[in-house]
Amino acid sequence: MPEGDSVLQLSNRLQWMPGRTITRTDVRVPRFATANLDGQLVHRVWPYGKHLFMHVGDTIIHTHLKMEGVWSIHAVGQRWRRQAYTARIVLRLTPQHPGGADIELVGHDLGFVRLFPLSDYDATVAHLGPDILDPEFPTALFRDTGRTGRDETIRRIMRRPERALGAALLDQKNVAGIGNEYRAEIMFLMGLHPAIPVGEAGLKRVERAVDLSRRVMWENRLGPKRVFTGDRRPGMTAYVFGRAGRACRRCGAAICKSTLGGRWAGGDPELDSAELERIIWWCPECQVGREDWE
Ligand SMILES: [Zn+2]
Repeated sequence: MPEGDSVLQLSNRLQWMPGRTITRTDVRVPRFATANLDGQLVHRVWPYGKHLFMHVGDTIIHTHLKMEGVWSIHAVGQRWRRQAYTARIVLRLTPQHPGGADIELVGHDLGFVRLFPLSDYDATVAHLGPDILDPEFPTALFRDTGRTGRDETIRRIMRRPERALGAALLDQKNVAGIGNEYRAEIMFLMGLHPAIPVGEAGLKRVERAVDLSRRVMWENRLGPKRVFTGDRRPGMTAYVFGRAGRACRRCGAAICKSTLGGRWAGGDPELDSAELERIIWWCPECQVGREDWE
């Protein structure tokens, strides 16, 4: 599932783009269908949490993978890897070598595609918390908060003591980049049930959860597969994510599965309703704080 590390890797794969010129623009989203960036130079491509940005001419192309999105890169004329109707944006760029074929970049099944002027960038990302995979997350001041990205993340999470820690970690307004798989594994590594309220967990454990999220995501950021257990063998990489009914690797109890929606985070206007429904996995023996959870 695409999380901040997936988008960082995608951005890394697209670093051949800056310095190239767009030769054809085809945005297959009604609102931007007439957009034309032909002849414009690609200045920069970068991730922010789960969002991908491309600065082209004076325009920003803003995309999100959501659940199923994928970008494919090939020479013009080559067969697409997915059905044409799934394409949301098709960009052609000048070739690598003079006389070569243009390069085609196709965004399939993207959660959204938006274009806006460069000057709107700050306002567009204003709602997002610090990017957990920003190299300077632990050290640099975040915007004008006077705090590092790490400290601002902790402050934002602590503002809502009644809220489930598992929901707070997933809220992109607190910290950008953490998704469901990391949330599940971090809460296991913390030994806490994902629904434990922030206030009950307390500041020290919230700090640990943020530091652990950063460390684990940073370690995994360039790898082909996320590893939480230290064991890279297929089927051995996770403690709880996707392991409902199977034996806990630490204690042998059957891993539980439910959703975080309704009981703790329900009715929370700050949390996307789709996120609310996202599944949680936990070990009933190793993770404390919600022993009554069904
Ligand atoms: Zn266990």
